[in-house]
Amino acid sequence: MRLTEDARDLFLPAACASCRSAPAAGSGLCAPCAADLLARRPVLATPAVRTAPPVVAGGPYDGVLAEALNEFKERSRRELAPALGAVLGRALAVVAAEVPDAVLVPVPPTRAARRARGFDHVATACAGLGDRYPCLRARPRPDSVGLTPAERAAAARQSLHPVPRRLAALVALGRPAVLVDDIVTTGATLAAAAAVLRAAGVRVPAAIAIAAA
Ligand SMILES: [Zn+2]
Repeated sequence: MRLTEDARDLFLPAACASCRSAPAAGSGLCAPCAADLLARRPVLATPAVRTAPPVVAGGPYDGVLAEALNEFKERSRRELAPALGAVLGRALAVVAAEVPDAVLVPVPPTRAARRARGFDHVATACAGLGDRYPCLRARPRPDSVGLTPAERAAAARQSLHPVPRRLAALVALGRPAVLVDDIVTTGATLAAAAAVLRAAGVRVPAAIAIAAA
């Protein structure tokens, strides 16, 4: 009775993206899981890659935050964008206290990843948090699983390119840039993104991420 089950799914509220037991409210999370996410406090991540800017993340990559981020990213549950955007917003508030007037530059997905998800999840999560300048483009790169840190850094550098006209507009503004990513791990991607912007003369004093692994 597959058809019946599919039809039922259309009318039942989706399950909470984290605990999967309670029905989700419009936020994609049940009330206790949403409260758990709200209680998260930003953390300062220290990327292993030294050229990466300092990163403030919305919280450690575990529990409700990890579940919600995975469902948002891998299962395209876009209704989670406001909840994850709020987590990102708290990280941004920490950075904005030190770096006023910054613009946000989201780390781009590759075209294949964007197609698979149906949306640009990082740009979506930071919508409404500030002035966004998506001036980077990501070309395909090898799966980072099994790569050494040096190989991972080289792959990230080769993958990220500027979108010339948008980068020129950012340079003309003269405002510092805060990079935005979903999960910070080694910092290789953020270091590569910062290198592209710094080469054009843009200051990149900090980055924010939804979660720190
Ligand atoms: Zn829940």
